[in-house]
Amino acid sequence: MLPQRMKKAVTDNPKKLANLIDLVNLPPTLRDFVGQSQTSRLTCFMRVWSYVKTNNLQDPNNKNMVNCDEKLKGILLGKPRVELAELPALIKLHFLKEPNLFTSHKKFSCEAAVAWEAGKPPVIEEVEVAPPQAGEVRLKILFTYLCHTDVYFWEAKGQTPLFPRIFGHEAGGIMESVGEGVTHLKPGDKALPVFTGECGECPHCKSEESNMCDLLRINTDRGVMLNDNKSRFSINGEPMNHFVGTSTFSEYTVVHVGCVAKINPEAPLDKVCILSCGICTGLGATVNVAKPKLGSSVAIFGLGAVGLAAAEGARISGASRIIGVDLVSSRFELAKKFGVNEFVNPKVD
Ligand SMILES: [Zn+2]
Ligand SMILES: [Zn+2]
Repeated sequence: MLPQRMKKAVTDNPKKLANLIDLVNLPPTLRDFVGQSQTSRLTCFMRVWSYVKTNNLQDPNNKNMVNCDEKLKGILLGKPRVELAELPALIKLHFLKEPNLFTSHKKFSCEAAVAWEAGKPPVIEEVEVAPPQAGEVRLKILFTYLCHTDVYFWEAKGQTPLFPRIFGHEAGGIMESVGEGVTHLKPGDKALPVFTGECGECPHCKSEESNMCDLLRINTDRGVMLNDNKSRFSINGEPMNHFVGTSTFSEYTVVHVGCVAKINPEAPLDKVCILSCGICTGLGATVNVAKPKLGSSVAIFGLGAVGLAAAEGARISGASRIIGVDLVSSRFELAKKFGVNEFVNPKVD
C-alpha cells in the first residue's frame, strides 16, 4: 500500500515511525510522489493511516485499538509540526469510527473539501458519508488532482450553480465497501473513478463508436445519485451536492459502479490517477475522435495535461508533424517527450 520509495525508506530505518514522520513532512524531493493531493493535512493523515494499516498497528479485533492510538500519538506529539499536531485527533477519530478499513457498510465521517459558494475557497469539513446503495461502491480516495473543469464549475459563471458541493473528478483510490448486487468488484481493489461511466447495456455502451452512455454520461447539473436522487454526503443532515458522479475531494466518496475502473493492483495510484481525466480526455480526443492518419499533420492548442495527452495520441497514431501551440514557451521542452516536434507561441512568433 505504501509507495515503493516510502516503503524502502521505512524498512531501511530501524526507527520506523520516526522515519515515516520525516517522510510525511514531505521534503521537496518526495513531493513528486504525492502529486497535488489534497491539503497537506489530509496528505499527512493519509500517509500515517496507510502506514498504520500496512504495519498492522491496527488490531482487527479492536482490542488494542487504544494502545495503538496512544503509541502513535506519543510519537507524533514529539514532533511539533502544525500538521502533525492535528493528526492524533484525526487518527483517533478514525480508529474509533472506522476500525476496519474494508468491512464498513455504515455511515461514517471523514474530511472533505466543501465548496459552500461559487468562487469561495472550499473548506475542509467533517462530512458524513452514507454507505453505498445497490449498484454503488464507496471508495477511499488516496490521490486526487485539481482539473480546470473543477475550477470552471466552482466559479459557476454561467453554469448551473449547485452548492454546497464537493468537487474533484481526477483521482485514484481503494474500494472500501460495495453495495448490493456488485459482484465484480470487492473491497481492497484499486480503482479510478470515471465521470463518463458505462452501464454496459445501452446502445452507446454496446457500440464501438461511442461511450456516451445513456445512463452515466457526464452530467454536470446533477448533484445526487441516480438510485434515489439523494446525496451520499451530509453535514448535520444538510446534503452536499456531488460533482460529475465522482466528488473526489473527500477521503471517501460514493460512486455508481459503472463510474469506477478497476486497475492493476501494482499500478502506482499517485501516477495513474491522472488517467481518470487528463490522459483519457486528450488521448481519446485524438485516437477516438480526430483519428489522424499515418503521416498526417496535427496541431494542438494548449500544452497542459490534456494537450500533452492529445500529442501522445497523435504520436502513437503515426502523425508526422505535431505542432504544439501555447502561450508559455517553457512547456515546449516537456512537450517534445510527447511527440510535439514543432512549436508556435502566438505571443512571440
Ligand atoms: Zn478534468
Ligand atoms: Zn450505457
